Amino acid sequence: MINKTVTNYITVLTLSLFFFPAAGWAQRQHGPHVHGLAQLNIAIEEGDVHAEMESPAINIIGFEHNPANKEELHNAEKAMAQMKRGEQLFLFSPAAKCKLVTARVGTGMEMTLDHKAEEHHDGEAGHHHHSDVDATYHFSCADPGKLTQLQVKFFDYFQRFEKIKVQILGKDKQVGAELTPQNNSVTF
Ligand SMILES: [Zn+2]
Repeated sequence: MINKTVTNYITVLTLSLFFFPAAGWAQRQHGPHVHGLAQLNIAIEEGDVHAEMESPAINIIGFEHNPANKEELHNAEKAMAQMKRGEQLFLFSPAAKCKLVTARVGTGMEMTLDHKAEEHHDGEAGHHHHSDVDATYHFSCADPGKLTQLQVKFFDYFQRFEKIKVQILGKDKQVGAELTPQNNSVTF
């Protein structure tokens, strides 16, 4: 009993470190920022599936500067809202009966038209202003023993993704895959 409790505690601690590093959304710099590419880390712990995506904002929003007009703001908000629809973006084995519990999406971009005037000139001045979008998802699966496959649908909803590097960490398995629009599922 004690061993089991200790093991669970360590697992929770590990997951926390893995998914929630101390720095805020905007400051986080994990992998290289390559347009078209994104990183997806997934941890499966019995019925709980935690997923974290880190992506250049351009893959999702279509640009990386703060929205400069109403149309850009509208498009950015629409894209961020779509990112929250985890049940559309992650298709797990249907028999596992996984349901989205929470989805959090953040970016260093300002989702307002009310930012400092000089930022509007970044593009004209030739600055390369990069931004990321980070998202975390928690799914709960009623029958985790039947969880053997994941199909990612990010490619369908956001056409700029070219490759998503996936790492899946399970109780006794670790699977890595590079998914593309033509090959969007991973078996584990
Ligand atoms: Zn960029």
